[in-house]
Amino acid sequence: MKIYTCTCGQSLFFENTRCLRCNAEVGYCPVCVGIVPLRPAGPSHYRCGNPACGALLDKCANYRDYNVCNRCVPVSEAGETPEPYCDCCRYNETIPDLSVAGNQEKWYRLEAAKRRLFYDLDLLQLPHGTVRDGFDPPLSFDFKADVIPSDDFWRTMGAEERVYTGHASGKITINIREADEVERERLRVDMGEAHRTLIGHFRHEIGHYYWEVLIKGRNDAAFAEAFGDPCSPDYATAMEEYYRNGPRPDWADRYVSAYASMHPWEDWAETFAMYLDMVSALETAVSIGFLSEPWFDANDLDGMVSRYQRLGIGLNEMSRTMGLLDMVPEIMLTPVVDKMRLVHAVCLNAPVVRVG
Ligand SMILES: [Zn+2]
Ligand SMILES: [Zn+2]
Ligand SMILES: [Zn+2]
Ligand SMILES: [Zn+2]
Repeated sequence: MKIYTCTCGQSLFFENTRCLRCNAEVGYCPVCVGIVPLRPAGPSHYRCGNPACGALLDKCANYRDYNVCNRCVPVSEAGETPEPYCDCCRYNETIPDLSVAGNQEKWYRLEAAKRRLFYDLDLLQLPHGTVRDGFDPPLSFDFKADVIPSDDFWRTMGAEERVYTGHASGKITINIREADEVERERLRVDMGEAHRTLIGHFRHEIGHYYWEVLIKGRNDAAFAEAFGDPCSPDYATAMEEYYRNGPRPDWADRYVSAYASMHPWEDWAETFAMYLDMVSALETAVSIGFLSEPWFDANDLDGMVSRYQRLGIGLNEMSRTMGLLDMVPEIMLTPVVDKMRLVHAVCLNAPVVRVG
């Protein structure tokens, strides 16, 4: 992630909506690709404040109406906004019920993490699109809460619905309780996880999406060779086994997490998520001057891994200095890096798809 600069000289961060020094409203300009001051232009439009750009913009409808986004959308010189939602919000199919107290704050946190996900995908130039773009499988997001009927009266009202965070055919569902920090930390401790974060959920679930886009029907043999045969045992059998007996005892020697040992598809999603963690951390480290080597090397995954591990040692010590959890808890053993080679290769060779 980059740190941007306002025209007044103040640093601007990816989530900002206002400059703390000159008080200008700020937002993400899709034309010059950065956080910029927004100069009012007429009753509802803005000009990008980057003097080299000056694009005519509108706020994304979710920025304008709910303040859960900070992106802008381009406006034609005739003043028309072809698409009211930004390139992240346009993927939403279900948003939280805003009549419930606290849900708008949860939605804000979900959108902030999702924008970081799209930043990572753009770094790697990975393709994605909606139904309207004709993309197959179309990507979409549902942010939903459990429906637990009230039973404080003599009858139960309505049906109970449990929302499972997961991916199916391009639809990523996130249970919005993951955006409640107390709940999420409790789940992290219950599950014995080193980290549990919103961006981590997005990186895992998008891994399942890219299995469908980049592996299924294209690289099945290479996948089975690196991760194992996903048909034997099948997913349902593997899941039942995992929840009955727990992770395989040798998981730490061969998998990035205990959960990855459940089935090759989960192993792929966990490995993909760690690859995005690594790419994102290296890019940030280079952007802020912590690292002088390139953050990406198409021909040298091992070099990227060793830079990430070296960075991780320093970051973990910094975290411990401040009494926080280790920032880079994973040790990337050879079997894990070998599986990551397939992630790296298919991301490099991802088809270029023009959408929109
Ligand atoms: Zn400023
Ligand atoms: Zn601009
Ligand atoms: Zn938006
Ligand atoms: Zn999964």
